[in-house]
Amino acid sequence: MTSPMPEHFSELPLSPVMQRALAQVGWSKPSPIQARVIPHALEGYDILGQARTGTGKTASFAIPILEQLDPLRIHPLPQALVLVPTRELAHQVYGEFVKLAEGCPTEVVEVAGGKHMQKQLKALGHGVQVVVGTPGRVIDHIERGSLRLGGIWCVVLDEADRMLDIGFRPSIERILRRCPENRQTMLLSATLDERIRDLANRYLFEPVVIDCSDKDVSVETIEQRFISISQDRKQEVLFQLLEREQPPQAIIFCRTKIGTAKLHRQLERYYVNRPERKVRVETIHGDMSQPQRDEVFKALRENKIDILVATDVVGRGIDVSSISHIINYDMPDECDDYVHRVGRTGRMGRSGIAFSFVGKDQGYLLTEIEQRINRMLEKDPLSEVVGKRRVSPAASNGSGSEVSASPRSAGQKVSGSGVGDTDPSESAAEVQADLPFGTAPASRTLGRAKSRGSVRRR
Ligand code: AMP
Repeated sequence: MTSPMPEHFSELPLSPVMQRALAQVGWSKPSPIQARVIPHALEGYDILGQARTGTGKTASFAIPILEQLDPLRIHPLPQALVLVPTRELAHQVYGEFVKLAEGCPTEVVEVAGGKHMQKQLKALGHGVQVVVGTPGRVIDHIERGSLRLGGIWCVVLDEADRMLDIGFRPSIERILRRCPENRQTMLLSATLDERIRDLANRYLFEPVVIDCSDKDVSVETIEQRFISISQDRKQEVLFQLLEREQPPQAIIFCRTKIGTAKLHRQLERYYVNRPERKVRVETIHGDMSQPQRDEVFKALRENKIDILVATDVVGRGIDVSSISHIINYDMPDECDDYVHRVGRTGRMGRSGIAFSFVGKDQGYLLTEIEQRINRMLEKDPLSEVVGKRRVSPAASNGSGSEVSASPRSAGQKVSGSGVGDTDPSESAAEVQADLPFGTAPASRTLGRAKSRGSVRRR
């Protein structure tokens, strides 16, 4: 892979209709992941790509798929299947396909839990070329006989690490086993850990490995700071931070639905008393219905929301390039969640800033994050104010800081002590809704002979 990176989409072997669609959406330069994935994907290679959301990864697989679709009248069964972890991401990926399919009649359907089954059944019955869905709902359709995978020539596992985190591995394997063996498989993930490599070893055939890892992106574009703080002063300091920053558009992440709803109410009260600020606050969490969530996403995109209070599961699907600030009001349990949260800002090369509220027991988490992104987070001055006024002798260790940076301990979770009203089990409950099947994982190593070189063109 020493060939120079294409600077313009016109340097890629794309059809005139695709070039026109790209011009229409106003994209001229492929992002690094697109420049690297598209040429190989068009040649039919399996791809193992490391990239987070916000890097343009969706188009890196959507463009080559769209370029190679047969018309429905020639190929009546679905041809490409994109598996994603959440309904929000399914909707987002669906939107990208529709946008990029401009100028060429293409049938794309979104099959995710929480959406109307009848509508999905109707669309599938009518005939589709591309299916974008969450594994649970895809299996549901396979079982009902409404989705037949015999014509699939490309499968994408998008945000594969997240799908494994949620427990979708058995479902993913079940689906892959139903797809033709000589298909093309593209696996995209923010991390390429052991689990991902194991999945890739089983289901990908001599993949081209492409590393556009998030740590480079975070380092380049997103300023990241932490504020050391005790639980009882978080709300007060959050208000100070908001007053200081006056963010054009911010997402505040909490760990649970209850915590999210509570902070939302507190912020509403705060801004009701400051009408001159004209700050519009909204919330999004797993207790909201899909239409309610869609409405919030739409309002966010249309800039009708200034501050959104969100949980991880739902917040992960947010793709709004104008987000300027991320505030981790509650620290995430996992480094990957941190990376995904922070990735809501600084999208497509824009600048952004992220603040993390770190409790006195959470120094180890900060250390883990710093190791993960290979960079030290800067301490925000707001923490010093708090530290000097509030630090207790027991917590300070004589240093005056409320954060104790204990050594990294693998697999350690945030204890409940730092986050008073949160219940970590709730986030898991939110995603369980999308998991109708509990099938046992099956292991099989594919030894398929793959035919290459027959690039399919519209
Ligand atoms: P993704 O990483 O796929 O979630 O994409 C992040 C955002 O960047 C989405 O809003 C895309 O529509 C947008 N995008 C993707 N590729 C490009 C590109 N080459 N130029 C400009 N915007 C892009």
